[in-house]
Amino acid sequence: MNAITIDGPAASGKSTVGYQAAQRLDFIFFDTGVMYRAVAWALLDRGIDSTDVEAVGQVAAQLPIGVKAPGADAQDGRQATIQIGDLDVTWSIRSPSVDSIVSVVAANRLVRRELSRKQRNIGLEYGMGTTETAGVVMVGRDIGTVVLPEAPLKIYLKAPLDERARRRYNELVERGSEADFARIQDDMRLRDQIDSERTVAPLRPAMDAFQIQTEGASVLEVVEQILQLAAKHLNVAPPSPGKPDNTGGRNILPD
Ligand code: C5P
Repeated sequence: MNAITIDGPAASGKSTVGYQAAQRLDFIFFDTGVMYRAVAWALLDRGIDSTDVEAVGQVAAQLPIGVKAPGADAQDGRQATIQIGDLDVTWSIRSPSVDSIVSVVAANRLVRRELSRKQRNIGLEYGMGTTETAGVVMVGRDIGTVVLPEAPLKIYLKAPLDERARRRYNELVERGSEADFARIQDDMRLRDQIDSERTVAPLRPAMDAFQIQTEGASVLEVVEQILQLAAKHLNVAPPSPGKPDNTGGRNILPD
């Protein structure tokens, strides 16, 4: 199986590093957090109480989430285009209001049952080579522990809270969105706490995960470290520099 799982707390660098590693390996990249975010966004949009377990579970079961490689018309720094039905929610699912409820939504056992089943299917499909892709890099909180525990390479990224909050702050500012550092840091602390303390699939490194501290390391350094591990643990060709997008506009998560 050619699958790399990358878990870790908010803004630990999972998607930046995972995306680049996937490009270099010609693997599919899949960020599972977007699915929890899409459900949280839909609750806000529909005025549904995020603590109503049954109602939230129903939204998760029925929401037509689409995850696609960005088309030529969407070159705004996105790694994927996220849709709910025909609506492009790529950036709206990254808002502070989604941030503030997404962990409560993700602690809901009905939501997890629904989304992790879909994620596992994606991991198996792309990781087992049943499609024409070489493999998959899947990132989240429980990928190495619950979603794809049989993956041959598991990474857990770490960085101190203030550094992670600074990264998220800079991202929002670069995108021209409003950003309040203290609020970001407080929300992140709370989100990490809920993610780590929940009963179902809490955030923690798999026993056999390679733990990488990203504080003070460049993105490229961490990517290189993962590529070296991949060369050892997976069935991949030696790394080549900067390959183009490998998804060919295919819909990764069918809507
Ligand atoms: O990775 P990201 O910060 O976008 O994830 C948003 C939230 O989704 C996390 O704080 C967590 O509550 C939830 N999540 C999860 N399991 C995953 C991915 C994300 O619980 N595999």
